[in-house]
This record gives sequence, structure tokens and C-alpha cells, in this order.
Amino acid sequence: MTIFTKIINGEIPCNKVLENDDFLAFHDINPKAPIHILIIPKVEVENFQQVTPEIMSGMTTFIQEVAKLLGLDKNGYRLITNNGSDGGQEVMHLHFHLLGGAKLNWNHLSDSDSKNYI
Ligand code: AMP
Repeated sequence: MTIFTKIINGEIPCNKVLENDDFLAFHDINPKAPIHILIIPKVEVENFQQVTPEIMSGMTTFIQEVAKLLGLDKNGYRLITNNGSDGGQEVMHLHFHLLGGAKLNWNHLSDSDSKNYI
């Protein structure tokens, strides 16, 4: 069981933004942008590589609702999912990072020179 399952079960508190029967959105504890939300399915899915189109269908609508609720639909936002160890995934429960509230720098997200890795 990951820490996110404990959050879903209410065993660990979170700063909730939006919830429905299938998904939960809450503030990241270590924000990397003025607004940094984590969006997760309530079912245990390890990461994007494991998720079904059916779950992603509901997830897409839910993410759009969260973005609108926070006013991020107007000026834009960044959506990231880290997949596996090379992707930098630390919590093995599928989550999307919704980042916004400022014009985001692209380069600072990568600590390696892409030219060395393609
Ligand atoms: P990732 O590296 O993509 O697996 O991201 C995991 C994210 O979960 C990180 O941005 C952490 O700051 C965040 N995180 C870990 N524990 C908590 C928590 N208890 N509440 C909110 N965010 C958390």
C-alpha cells in the first residue's frame, strides 16, 4: 500500500481540492509551482503504463474540472506524470502533477542535458 492509498482511506490527511467517487485531487506537500496539485485515481494503479483507457477517460474529465476550479484553464498549466524509475516516479500509485499559477520554465524540470541522452 502506498502513501496515496492511505490518503484515499483518510488514514493520512491531505489538503483536498476536489473529490468524486473515482478520483481525488489535493495539494502537493512539496510544491514546485505556485499551484501544484496531485490528481489520483482511487483504484490502485501503479503508473501510466498500467492504466486503462476507461480510467483515463474519467481522469481526463476530472483533471479538466480541477483546472477550471482553480482558474488554470484561462492562462494554462502543465500536466506531468512520472512513469517508473527513469521517469522519476517516487510514489507507485498513478498521479498527475497539475502545475500552474505562473509562466513555467521548461528547462528547470530537467536536470540533464537532453543532447546527452538522445
Ligand atoms: P513522483 O515523484 O511523481 O512520484 O511524485 C510524488 C509526489 O508526491 C511528490 O511531488 C511529493 O512531494 C508528493 N507527496 C508525497 N507525499 C505527499 C503527501 N503526504 N501529501 C501530498 N503530497 C505528497
